Amino acid sequence: MSMAEPMKLSDWIKRFTFYEILVGMKATMTVFVQRIVLRSRKAVTFQYPHEKRDLPGTYRGMIALLRYNDMTEKCVGCDLCEAACPSRVITVISDEVPGEPMKRFAKEYYMDMARCIFCGLCVKACPVDALAMTTEYEWSVYNKRDLRLNKDQLLALGDRNFPTREEKIEHQHHNVTFFNIGHQNLPPMDS
Ligand code: SF4
Ligand code: SF4
Repeated sequence: MSMAEPMKLSDWIKRFTFYEILVGMKATMTVFVQRIVLRSRKAVTFQYPHEKRDLPGTYRGMIALLRYNDMTEKCVGCDLCEAACPSRVITVISDEVPGEPMKRFAKEYYMDMARCIFCGLCVKACPVDALAMTTEYEWSVYNKRDLRLNKDQLLALGDRNFPTREEKIEHQHHNVTFFNIGHQNLPPMDS
């Protein structure tokens, strides 16, 4: 039968000085002294909501519907975003533009943002860049039904986040009849 080895003096000292706890607190105490005593370190915390972080332009926040610079809606009601969405967030109800049977628009457009995983696939799928992700994130609500946004709410999101708007696509690219928005009187080509 083997006898238990007697504890060394160093083990006794570690036990009575709470050595492991002191090692664990080393980083905390270092920052405490630098920040509070020496005042040589800036705070890394933000006093939210009074202070807010600068978000990168690539931040994936609430999604918006966009307009062209003449304030017409970009969306042509093609449903591609609805098909691309893995979470079934989007519902598009499209219709013909009255008097222009070859041209469609989104009569109704809904996004249930409570389901959105902010993957960005809908933005990628849109052929006319009618969708964009904003840097808005303060959208906490008491009732999740309030996060089912309609077309007007999504357009309002786009209006306040993207005040600089693109020219209509037929003015940017002349050969766009396949986009369903052919124009009779195209402006002259620059070159
Ligand atoms: S970001 Fe992703 S989950 Fe959200 S609506 Fe777009 S495709 Fe759907
Ligand atoms: S993919 Fe773009 S154009 Fe098509 S319905 Fe969606 S937002 Fe509208």
